[in-house]
Amino acid sequence: MEFKKCARCGCFFVTDGDVCTSCMPKDRLDIFKLKNYFEENNNYSSVQNISISTGISAKNVSRYINNGNFPNISL
Ligand SMILES: [Zn+2]
Repeated sequence: MEFKKCARCGCFFVTDGDVCTSCMPKDRLDIFKLKNYFEENNNYSSVQNISISTGISAKNVSRYINNGNFPNISL
């Protein structure tokens, strides 16, 4: 078992993911929002831009992309 620091709230937890169980639904919602965003927009230029348009923090946008949630997106 490995303790990890939650990427969203900073609490320590034990699981396979990046975030604790209370933040997991928020991650899922963000990924859902991002997925829709990428489907509707072709002119995303930067993480900052996406963050402003979606309301998802730039840190989290980068994390989802780095985690391979959006294999077709490269910034
Ligand atoms: Zn958390």
